[in-house]
Amino acid sequence: MNLTLHLTTRCPLRCRYCYARPDTLTSRDMTLETALQAIEFAVQGSAESEHCGIVFFGGEPLLLADHIREIVASCRHREARLPTRFHFKVTTNGLLLDGRFLDFAVAEDLFVALSLDGVAAAHDAHRVGEDGEGTHAVVEERARALLARRPYAPVLMTVTPDTVRFYAASVQYLLDLGFRYVITSIDYSGAWTAATLRTLRREYRTLAGLYEAWMREERKFYFSPFEVKLASHIHGADYQRERCELGWRQLSVAPDGRLFPCVQFARDGADSTFAIGDVWSGVDEERRANLAEMSARDHEPCRTCAIEPRCNHTCGCLNWQATGRVDHVSPVLCEHERLLIPIVDALGARLYGGRSALFLQKHYNAMFPLLSLIEDEQDAPAS
Ligand code: SF4
Ligand code: SF4
Repeated sequence: MNLTLHLTTRCPLRCRYCYARPDTLTSRDMTLETALQAIEFAVQGSAESEHCGIVFFGGEPLLLADHIREIVASCRHREARLPTRFHFKVTTNGLLLDGRFLDFAVAEDLFVALSLDGVAAAHDAHRVGEDGEGTHAVVEERARALLARRPYAPVLMTVTPDTVRFYAASVQYLLDLGFRYVITSIDYSGAWTAATLRTLRREYRTLAGLYEAWMREERKFYFSPFEVKLASHIHGADYQRERCELGWRQLSVAPDGRLFPCVQFARDGADSTFAIGDVWSGVDEERRANLAEMSARDHEPCRTCAIEPRCNHTCGCLNWQATGRVDHVSPVLCEHERLLIPIVDALGARLYGGRSALFLQKHYNAMFPLLSLIEDEQDAPAS
């Protein structure tokens, strides 16, 4: 089972696109008792697979770094008695990412994902503190410290209509900074226009050119929008099974212990429309099934769409973020998929035709993730 613990609604940042809006909510922290009950719930649900993924999320989860330490210690204690194995990840804005926490992350093999929106002009347009000032300089410093200890840490970048013109430059900047895993999210709830969507297409074309060059240089990296679409092109129907199944692949725990089907819904103060149980009584299967059914409902314009199997329109969480309904597809998401897929397919054809060795390994060799990991670990500096 994969469980995301929303440890707190508090956050020292005031990101302008934040759906959780920390300044408008009554602040609330998850109690340690609730968090440990969530672990108990996760263990019960992990009996078959014996693997349990725990994500620490917020708000800013490092405000409760002591909770994280206690939870990890409790899980390690369980590992000594049970077959369950835990994997941990924390998603942070970086402001509180100090040496002490990095020591802990290294010691406990905790995955740290950092939010950084690329170049200063893009990051500082939205990711501001309570004083309204941008936070790029301090987060860049934290990024360097993180990469020195955890070289494969992923970076999370959000692209909005007013920062899309920096998209390609920002990805290049993040790679140059040392990140190898760049995960981008489009802010589908933003005020996209025909002009900003044209800019998005132009930026993806530029990125396709850069991606091709990086591949030919055998630079190992992961750029989420391209990898996902390349994989769906190459592996077709098999890849569809990886698509969103609201409430089945992972669950989010709000600070008060209620269970939600994905991170966007698990806000403190959120109404209970999407709650599907709590960590004490477990999942309400009827509610979960109803929600999954609602999310999987056929979207009328998608029925005859040629790229439907490769489109993100089935993500109920994204739909809800953009339209307020899990079963309503955002026109911006539709446009995004239509402009991205042809660019990525042309890129894949060029790399395949040119017999790019890294491309062929990455997408056609099932052993690549394992071989790559072994190679990376041999190259990694001692921490
Ligand atoms: S760091 Fe995350 S929780 Fe905090 S304001 Fe920004 S988007 Fe919201
Ligand atoms: S591209 Fe648009 S019409 Fe096609 S499946 Fe996606 S959302 Fe539906």
